[in-house]
Amino acid sequence: MTSSNQRPIVAIATAPGRGGIGVVRVSGPRLGPFIYALLGRTLVPRQATYCRFPDATNQTIDQGIALYFVGPASYTGEDVLELQGHGGPAVLQQLLNHCLAVGAPFEMHIASPGEFTLRAFLNDKIDLAQAEAIADLIDASSEAAARAAVISMTGTFSRHINGLSASIVQLRMLVEATLDFPEEEIEFLEKYQARARLETLKNTLTEILLASRQGIVLREGLHVVLAGEPNVGKSSLLNALAKEDLAIVTPIAGTTRDKVSQLISLDGVPITVTDTAGLRDTVDAIEVIGIERTWRAIEQADVILHLSAIDTNSLELDSLIQSRRSVNSVVLRVCNKVDLSNNNSNLESDILFISAKTGQGLDILRAKLLELAGWNPGQESPWLARQRHVDALVATQHHLTQASEFALQQDLVLDLFAEELRLAHDQLGSITGHMTPDDLLGEIFSRFCIGK
Ligand code: GDP
Repeated sequence: MTSSNQRPIVAIATAPGRGGIGVVRVSGPRLGPFIYALLGRTLVPRQATYCRFPDATNQTIDQGIALYFVGPASYTGEDVLELQGHGGPAVLQQLLNHCLAVGAPFEMHIASPGEFTLRAFLNDKIDLAQAEAIADLIDASSEAAARAAVISMTGTFSRHINGLSASIVQLRMLVEATLDFPEEEIEFLEKYQARARLETLKNTLTEILLASRQGIVLREGLHVVLAGEPNVGKSSLLNALAKEDLAIVTPIAGTTRDKVSQLISLDGVPITVTDTAGLRDTVDAIEVIGIERTWRAIEQADVILHLSAIDTNSLELDSLIQSRRSVNSVVLRVCNKVDLSNNNSNLESDILFISAKTGQGLDILRAKLLELAGWNPGQESPWLARQRHVDALVATQHHLTQASEFALQQDLVLDLFAEELRLAHDQLGSITGHMTPDDLLGEIFSRFCIGK
């Protein structure tokens, strides 16, 4: 019995539904015999071969391009076969089934989500941060997020992490060497300028952390809910924002455009704005359901944009919203229809006054939303990051700070100093996958689409 990573895998790699072309992809340690059994011919590696894809009775399933990459020079690092046929669900399913039948003696199985990329990671073609960036590129809902994902995918983020790791390793080597000669421990700090080295490390880390936090904003965006009484202009505001800032709408769960949600892009930051049923006392059964959904949306939002109109008073609603929102959310009070008022001199300062009709105040509203998302317009993130990266960087920062504190003590305990450096190094290693528990790997790759 071969281990599961040595068994060949197969999947339809293109999106479900009809398309110009459809791709079935196979990966395994040695695909030569399988290819011969499948196509009745050999393929020249890295050469597009136009050929027939026959079934078991030699009837033609489809006719298309076969591409053969011999490992390790392939996406997964194993042998890879790509069959590019016509993009219809029935034809691709037949091709997939036939691959499985021909591949049965080789224990071929359908790839689980992300399994091709997992193999690329296990075969050292890419590190973990790059693998995550591949999924993020596929999921990117704004051009800025896609650009940032490509930068991570091609290794820029990993290079920064590896650079930092290398500097920690250097320092660790000096410490470990000194530990072998206890009489030199006292001079250690001066001899190797350890404090200065640590400071440089911490400064570099702070820069990486700042950029990574921006990367998270680009990836995760912000969920904004428009809440307020009926007729205050919620739909008008959603339309006004969406008209100018429409994002690339993708079919990812949570970003799908439906009747009430719109994905907009502010400075490339994806912002999902959800219009809700107006909040008011009612006995109408359908309206009650809508209002209950509004409260649920409020409970899940990052930002609740509490909209009132210049001619309404909604203080009571404000305290209700405050009582239902999640602790991490923010309520932004916005007053619409300011164009109806002649006297703007004594307007409350903690409320943002806008007009969905004339566009007045919308730029300030956009800037406020970006600020709440944590976006710094002057500093575009060069890479896309995930929360787990930032968590690991914060933990690294903590261990380096601990090490600095030990280094400041009169009687430096070098063992403790060394231990903090080791822990910092391990945290960085978890980002690129050099020190990553298996269950975390499972969690990361299970979120990929099938065929990737
Ligand atoms: P919703 O029920 O909160 O979604 O409110 P709507 O967006 O449907 O707007 C209710 C009414 O207010 C409509 O007649 C809009 O044309 C009007 N309205 C919305 N925004 C403005 C605004 O900024 N100024 C003025 N004058 N009218 C507005």
